[in-house]
Amino acid sequence: MMLELASKHGVSTGDDAQENSPLTIRGLTVSYGQKPAVFSVDMTVQPGAMTAIIGPNGAGKSTLLKAALGIVKPLSGQVQVFGKPLAAQRHRIAYVPQRASIDWDFPTRVIDVVLMGLYRELGLLRRVRASHRQRAADCLDRVGMRDFADRQIGQLSGGQQQRVFLARALAQEADLYLLDEPFAGVDAATEKAIIGVLKSLRKAGKTVVVVHHDLATITEYFDNVFLINTRKVAEGTVADVFTADNLQATYGGRLATAQVDQLARA
Ligand code: ADP
Ligand code: MG
Repeated sequence: MMLELASKHGVSTGDDAQENSPLTIRGLTVSYGQKPAVFSVDMTVQPGAMTAIIGPNGAGKSTLLKAALGIVKPLSGQVQVFGKPLAAQRHRIAYVPQRASIDWDFPTRVIDVVLMGLYRELGLLRRVRASHRQRAADCLDRVGMRDFADRQIGQLSGGQQQRVFLARALAQEADLYLLDEPFAGVDAATEKAIIGVLKSLRKAGKTVVVVHHDLATITEYFDNVFLINTRKVAEGTVADVFTADNLQATYGGRLATAQVDQLARA
């Protein structure tokens, strides 16, 4: 009876929820060697929300994002993006990798990094038109980096580089944004600029998933949280699952109990 009512009024049942989810992962296991980095993980990302992925170093957070993007090949599991297989939907995902993973030996101007976000529109000939440059400049403006368009990326501070990568993601005009520790080691101005942009994306109905290292800002920044330590510990709203018990289960002895209590109450 409840189910009947629910479907009549278009309330989403379990299957619909999966179909509407920007990112659904089922039974994901990834291994680089003998020991899995991610084991049998399920994830259902809620549309239009900001979700934090948290867990200790080596917990498989980056691997989870990379598997969602098809950058690493899982041993098993499925990834669905907006209810369809990843391959057909990859262009709807923008990704900002963990900064340490990028090496800028090659001289590249800031504006050209942002233009990479437009690769789909530039076509095979990579012909950059004035309208493309304008859009790239607008994206730099949104992250407060317009004046740096002609600088070499390697000459910027870490925080400035992070903002440029976010501008590149914005240029892509995606529907789902995956960011790997965008706030790690950045200055206060960059943190403020980035969180402002992410909130504006949410306001525009986009979905944002962030690997986040700072437990102290979870409550302030995020709607939902996903706790992982190789296996999923919990996922849900910050109010429901950002609890002392779940943090203890995720971080074990690595967080002092007093600190966990304090964070869960914050
Ligand atoms: P996190 O982002 O949570 O710190 P990662 O996903 O980067 O964790 O790593 C999960 C585990 O997989 C770690 O034990 C890490 O050492 C290992 N790992 C990650 N990338 C590779 C790789 N390219 N080759 C081998 N092992 C890797
Ligand atoms: Mg990582």
